[in-house]
Amino acid sequence: MASVVPCFIVFSLILSGVAAHIYGDPIAETMAAVSGYPSEPTSCSENHHQPLFVDRESLQRQIDELSQFSDAPSPAVTRVLYSENDISARRYIKDLMRHSGLSVREDAVGNIFGRWEGSEPELAGVATGSHIDAIPYSGKYDGVVGVLGALEAINMLRRWGFQPKRSLEVIMFTSEEPTRFGISCLGSRLMAGSEALAEALKVTFDSQNMSFFDAAKFAGYANDGQDISTVFLKKGSYFAFLELHIEQGPILEEEGVPIAIVTAIAAPASMKVEFKGNGGHAGAVLMPARNDAGLAAAELALAVEKHVLESGSLDTVGTVGIIELHPGAVNSIPSKSHVEIDARDIDEKRRNIVVNKIRQSAMDIATKRGVVLSEFNVVNQDPPAQSDESIIKAMANASEQLNLNYKRMISRAYHDSLFMARISPMGMIFIPCYKGYSHTPEEYAAIDDIANGVKVLALTLSKLSLS
Ligand SMILES: [Zn+2]
Repeated sequence: MASVVPCFIVFSLILSGVAAHIYGDPIAETMAAVSGYPSEPTSCSENHHQPLFVDRESLQRQIDELSQFSDAPSPAVTRVLYSENDISARRYIKDLMRHSGLSVREDAVGNIFGRWEGSEPELAGVATGSHIDAIPYSGKYDGVVGVLGALEAINMLRRWGFQPKRSLEVIMFTSEEPTRFGISCLGSRLMAGSEALAEALKVTFDSQNMSFFDAAKFAGYANDGQDISTVFLKKGSYFAFLELHIEQGPILEEEGVPIAIVTAIAAPASMKVEFKGNGGHAGAVLMPARNDAGLAAAELALAVEKHVLESGSLDTVGTVGIIELHPGAVNSIPSKSHVEIDARDIDEKRRNIVVNKIRQSAMDIATKRGVVLSEFNVVNQDPPAQSDESIIKAMANASEQLNLNYKRMISRAYHDSLFMARISPMGMIFIPCYKGYSHTPEEYAAIDDIANGVKVLALTLSKLSLS
């Protein structure tokens, strides 16, 4: 992984405003201030030891190389949990971790940890990471930036000669995406101690009828007798957890702001609803005699919108993404309808009020229309998470010291950080991505924007490690 560093990159970094002034750079000064390490500017021949240096060339190359482990042709990426390509990508990440001098550990479901032991290893460590699995035909930056970027942040700290007090860890989470087994954030959810998930996995199968445990064994995990509860981590295992991620929305790019500090992560409640009516011929059954399950679904969709708007907060959102009608013929009154609803908020109570109102509406609509509400199932109802104030402050200070403009933002998509927040103080850094595109091959983040995120991450990690 050694690389020759052209001087012009370092110069352009300094000239592009990374450094606050000519003689010192802010990372070096801050690190020197907090750690006592020297922050003398080095000559050009020693530039690869420069603390402010993000090795963009290597980082971009790694992002491109990782994207080759894919079941879809480039530029699309498909990397599904425990597939051949997922296994190869994991090997690639573990190799990079070892090259960064980290000691590598994997748990029973394949969460991967790379640890840089601090001078006081008995203290709770500071962790950062994200995921590398990719839904079918998505892009190469979602999650990846938070894993490869974290490793580059570690490399940056090493180049500078930083010595952590609290150990630093890079985590690659297993299966953030629900593609194979319908469970999102599988790895982090288990790490956060979800007994319910550990139990559910015993009877979880993919679409090919392969059990979760057989798939895990194929990838070298969950070996015979290995108890899945060994994945659980105790609250307090980490002093802090940070995740660097592309925004997956257009705001930072539109506003020309390089960094967002996430203050809270919204969490969805998902509902599955089914109405049953009598059906019948579209011509023969007159309107007063109908029990139209399709209209019940349509009315419920409008009720979802109404209840969400009643919350009075822009942070409350609701979506009816699926309505299926049976038998689905133009001349047949729907006898059955299936509705799937997603309601999100950063305030759990407010979101749950919406869920309860939707449930009440479903019952009222069924009564009014003479149909049967045969299912109202809240599939999941994860609590939202607030970022930790001291981590927000550390990220804000780091951005200021790097002369990087930032804004506070709510994450409306959810991430492994949502679950890490159950066992650790948590914070997230967002960087701009092209037009906010994500989960599509057009997903793109400029290496300069990624480098900004890596710098904020590195500086924040160093501060938290020494606190
Ligand atoms: Zn992601």
